[in-house]
Amino acid sequence: MARLTRAQLTDLVQFVDALVAEEGCDHKFRHTRRWADEQRLAWNPIANALEELGGFCDCEVVMNCGPDNVFD
Ligand SMILES: [Zn+2]
Repeated sequence: MARLTRAQLTDLVQFVDALVAEEGCDHKFRHTRRWADEQRLAWNPIANALEELGGFCDCEVVMNCGPDNVFD
């Protein structure tokens, strides 16, 4: 996860968590992708990094890819 800072990951998880709570997870990176687009970040490196952490959809990003999983 060298490409995202702790602050970015915190922001990502908060953003995705709120949208998953509202709209659910469709077993893709729908909300995560929206965050990356809004941050103007290249998508493929982020998807690869999240998958390495066990995040293969929005709800798994929230569960497995928070900063505490990555930095501690
Ligand atoms: Zn999911």
